[in-house]
Amino acid sequence: MSQSAPHHVVIVGAGFGGLSAVHALAGAPVRITIVDQRNHHLFQPLLYQVGTATLATSEIAWPVRHLLRRRREVVTLLGTVTRVDTRARTVHLEDGGDLAYDTLVLATGVRHAYFGHDEWEPYAPGLKTLEDATSIRRRILLALERAERESDAQRRAALLTFVIVGGGPTGVELAGAIAELAHQNLPAEYRHIDTRRARVLLVEAGPRILPSFTEDLSAYAHRSLQRLGVEVQVGKPVSACSADGVVIGSEALPARTILWAAGVRASPAAAWLGMPADGAGRVKVEADLTAPGLPEVFVIGDTATIDAWHGKPVPGIAPAAKQQGVHVAATIRRRLAGDAAARPFRYRHSGNLATIGKRSAVIDFGWLKLRGNLAWWIWGIAHIYFLIGVRNRLAVALSWLWIFSTGSRSACLITQGESKPKPG
Ligand SMILES: Cc1cc2nc3c(=O)[nH]c(=O)nc-3n(C[C@H](O)[C@H](O)[C@H](O)COP(=O)(O)OP(=O)(O)OC[C@H]3O[C@@H](n4cnc5c(N)ncnc54)[C@H](O)[C@@H]3O)c2cc1C
Repeated sequence: MSQSAPHHVVIVGAGFGGLSAVHALAGAPVRITIVDQRNHHLFQPLLYQVGTATLATSEIAWPVRHLLRRRREVVTLLGTVTRVDTRARTVHLEDGGDLAYDTLVLATGVRHAYFGHDEWEPYAPGLKTLEDATSIRRRILLALERAERESDAQRRAALLTFVIVGGGPTGVELAGAIAELAHQNLPAEYRHIDTRRARVLLVEAGPRILPSFTEDLSAYAHRSLQRLGVEVQVGKPVSACSADGVVIGSEALPARTILWAAGVRASPAAAWLGMPADGAGRVKVEADLTAPGLPEVFVIGDTATIDAWHGKPVPGIAPAAKQQGVHVAATIRRRLAGDAAARPFRYRHSGNLATIGKRSAVIDFGWLKLRGNLAWWIWGIAHIYFLIGVRNRLAVALSWLWIFSTGSRSACLITQGESKPKPG
């Protein structure tokens, strides 16, 4: 590595992995360029609460430029990377700009995947970005608005049917929150429909929901969802999604709102590098998180795969991406100090958490398993702790307190695109 000019680290992606690498490089003899296709860092774990009218967008997202304003050696760029020239050590942006790097960190995350059925996406949107969340909120609220004006019983029933595909934490959290919204928070606001009669279905192809949790916690979550009025269907793959509804197994169910929480596909980082990828498109990285044959290129977070959790694959969760960002920063520092020996990344798992509505959660720390109200409090405190900035922590805590004590959700806003309810 050249000692003459400051070593240039280009980090693509200002999510959990990219931002943690920037933070861990503070004080290192480098200049950093961080580029993201969005101008904000997003706290995805609470995205479902924007989608279900609990929180506002600005409570879970922060402009990257603002977050890094005190780091004079960091340049923040808004741009979409479309290609990497590993020979010329250059990153190409969609609008034609180029960025030369000495070290490249790709932390570009994942998008939802439809198991080869991309044609389902318009009917069954996933939840990954702020735009996804506000668009899901719009779909849910518009379905209720249309149901309020619908005189045909069958069409009204379809408008009042909400199907969530995928029983992982995101699907469970969405289903619980939609059931509470329709069954508990909104009934007083409608005159022609009874939102308590809305059907909320959580459909999982596997034998149980929350497969990454122990069987007893998964069974507890199943029962808790049922208590909230969610119909949980396991062992039933969805075989079609359309404007009319879903086909679950071989049974067609008319539904005007379908939400997708079933699968992910990595960003095209593997294609940019010309590397082999796993079935979900993730780059199979070396033990030190470098791309095979490219020691100056690191791939981290959800867009990489590595068996660094006692021989098992590292899960696609925020703590894993953050730990990888820290590991990469430490490697860069050591290399600049003349130590080129590769150190393997080892993932430390702190636990699995999922919330079921606003009163219950399940937590699996390995050494301790919790469920119910106490688990919810721990889940809530942990999430508030991980938000950035005092203002957002207070704002989220106040929003939760307000909703839990009054049952009224102030974020029931239909924004973006069509704003006038049309008859179904
Ligand atoms: C709805 C939802 C709920 C979740 N809940 C939890 C939870 O409760 N707990 C938990 O630990 N994890 C949770 N996760 C997973 C967690 O958010 C991810 O594991 C984590 O964000 C991965 O970090 P990352 O840095 O790899 O990617 P991300 O945080 O997704 O960041 C990727 C960044 O790259 C940018 N980018 C992508 N492509 C390009 C490009 N071509 N050019 C420029 N920029 C690009 C994106 O805009 C984004 O900012 C959840 C995820 C979702 C979607």
